[in-house]
Amino acid sequence: MTEYPQRRQRVLRDLPEHKADVLIVSGLPNVRYLSGFTGSNALLLLSKSHATLLTDPRYTIQANTESDCTVKIERGSLYEAAAKIFKARRWRSIAFERNRLTFGAYAELQHRLGVAATLRPTSGLVEKHRMIKSGTEIVAIRRSVETNSKAFAQAISRIKPRITEMELAGEIEYRMRKNGAEKPSFETIVASGLRTALPHAQPTVERIHKLLLIDMGCMQAGYASDMTRMLHLGKPGSETRKLYKAVLESQLAAIQVVRPGVKGGDVDRAARRVLKAHGFDKYFVHSTGHGLGLEIHETPRLGKRDATYLEAGMVITIEPGAYIEGVGGVRIEDTVLVTETGCEILTPTPKELTII
Ligand code: ZN
Ligand code: ZN
Repeated sequence: MTEYPQRRQRVLRDLPEHKADVLIVSGLPNVRYLSGFTGSNALLLLSKSHATLLTDPRYTIQANTESDCTVKIERGSLYEAAAKIFKARRWRSIAFERNRLTFGAYAELQHRLGVAATLRPTSGLVEKHRMIKSGTEIVAIRRSVETNSKAFAQAISRIKPRITEMELAGEIEYRMRKNGAEKPSFETIVASGLRTALPHAQPTVERIHKLLLIDMGCMQAGYASDMTRMLHLGKPGSETRKLYKAVLESQLAAIQVVRPGVKGGDVDRAARRVLKAHGFDKYFVHSTGHGLGLEIHETPRLGKRDATYLEAGMVITIEPGAYIEGVGGVRIEDTVLVTETGCEILTPTPKELTII
């Protein structure tokens, strides 16, 4: 039994509020969520009576296998095809995803539809449902998280002297695939020494030394995982140990407050409070975490001002960090499931500073 018809029903419930006859779903992760189709070119047209998936001839077999929607194969522009369908069905009020449609596509739609039709911007119509994961989705995320942790353990056991950041990133990504992942969920971050102070460092050909930050995630059966761990080559100095201790305390404090009814901003505050007590709060330059699922970054965003109430079934990351130029940076990140009574840390990898 697939969940797609139910998901489409849930999204359709919001359509009258937007006074729309049909919703054009153009965000590919949203198309996948609602139709099962995983290809790279598609539009899903969703109305009370129809669920039509438009794609091109490269995907004829795949679309019919993956999706339970009516599949229409188009050789030309999918927007032109959509406009034709709207005209034929006399649908004049058309909702679209404002954050998922390019200006070019919008202009084309408007041109093809003419003055008789109205395009109505919507935002988060599908994403708000994607925040709460179903049982099947949670199973998929658990597997992705396990694969990711396995790949991490295997890759770090193969660290040899003089290995570069780039080689280690390559080893990590090879191990992900070897354990069943399709691909990394984002570009693997391997940063060492002073470069750990760059929160989103790209691996270089520099040999790893001293402090080592690894932020990695994979995609398995379409679902993302995300984890950051720190290692140290040789004995860490007292400054590094102090920084590590503060970030770990902050991460644990944030996890402590995760439960239904708590706001994203409350979790962020809990992390920041601990770093402040250690004098490191000004070095914490990003938010405490983010939702993840079919995409690596989803709502909620656990930032200072996030007013989203956490609910059971949300899967989020908790990843405070502190980055000091000329010294180094530390981040510790787990993938966490919000449960009825609190939360469950899905990431099985131990969190102490690994010394190699
Ligand atoms: Zn993350
Ligand atoms: Zn991460």
